[in-house]
Amino acid sequence: MKSFAYASLDDSLATKLIARAGLADIDAKVKNGERLSFEDGVRLYETPQLAAVGLMAHRVRTQRHGRKAYFNVNQHVNYTNICIYSCKFCAFAAKEGEERGYLMTPEVVEQKVREQLHRPVTEVHMVAGIHPKMGYDYYLDVVRAAKRGRPEIHVKAFTMVEIDHILKISGKSEDEVFADLREAGLGSCPGGGAEVLVDRVHKAVFREKQGPQSWLDTARKVQRHGFKMNATMLYGHIERVEERVTHLMRLRELQDECGGFMAYIPLAFWPYHTDLENFGHVTTGHLDERSIAVGRLMLDNFPHIKAYWVMLTQESAQTALSFGANDLDGTVTEEKITHDAGTTEPQALTPDALQHLIRQAGYEPIQRTTVYEEVSAAPA
Ligand code: SF4
Repeated sequence: MKSFAYASLDDSLATKLIARAGLADIDAKVKNGERLSFEDGVRLYETPQLAAVGLMAHRVRTQRHGRKAYFNVNQHVNYTNICIYSCKFCAFAAKEGEERGYLMTPEVVEQKVREQLHRPVTEVHMVAGIHPKMGYDYYLDVVRAAKRGRPEIHVKAFTMVEIDHILKISGKSEDEVFADLREAGLGSCPGGGAEVLVDRVHKAVFREKQGPQSWLDTARKVQRHGFKMNATMLYGHIERVEERVTHLMRLRELQDECGGFMAYIPLAFWPYHTDLENFGHVTTGHLDERSIAVGRLMLDNFPHIKAYWVMLTQESAQTALSFGANDLDGTVTEEKITHDAGTTEPQALTPDALQHLIRQAGYEPIQRTTVYEEVSAAPA
């Protein structure tokens, strides 16, 4: 079996390599369980010694999760691409009346879920654009529809942008809205739409939609109403190193306060067909692995770091398992958002393919539920 070098590197040798990279002080903090500072985060992003950063992150990952690497069997349903906003990094959205615009009725959502009944899907992941006309009941109905299609399925739905919109159009109190969503069958939230939680980036590339403070405030509401969620960062466009670190610090603060984040998911930007197509580049493996590793080291209060293979590519996601990640996400099925932006990855992977990636990297594949309960140890 192939095994990535870090998986078996002697710890004292790792310590020497990290010291030679000039990072002994950060290594000491990590070993002592001390929280890393903003300046530490900037150094971890800027040092040319990526291997040393990866070694520290790998050590933390191994302490928390041993050889385990999680995946889940899920499906995506992007119920509409019609959106009132025009984020510059988005290739998915369409305006009402555009030929490529679509809107799924709740019946279509139910059918999409039923189409996968032959597969052992445990989660439906539903995110979409902000449609100008759909009312409050539509959002409850798409959740209900997914549950009708497969009653035992976990519905992980709605970015903080969608939740904020649902709250605004509901005409109800916050308590009533979250009670309605729970009753409809919402299980958790995916945590997208955070982009980069700093005002400069917000103004430059997604000024119309919810800004950083609103994203954090909405996430706080979600978690205070008892829903677990994830948190993303879209990197590799116009953001600066300091802004990435600020993003991580803001997530860490909210996790200290509420404790409802399950996983941090750094999302590699795909520029094709977006307004940043000429400006942006596809992220490199170097930045992908660093983003995973710095996330693992800075977010000491996040249980899981996810390498989302659709955006990282299978190769980078697999390697990320040795740079701090302990999760590859899922089988996915019919992903639209990153495919519209030009990802070269397939629309879906089988559980076998995910387990193969994990085993070839030297880890033990474990199927999980959305909230990280182990479904079963994958067969050897
Ligand atoms: S990123 Fe989301 S909110 Fe922004 S334009 Fe695309 S679909 Fe709309």
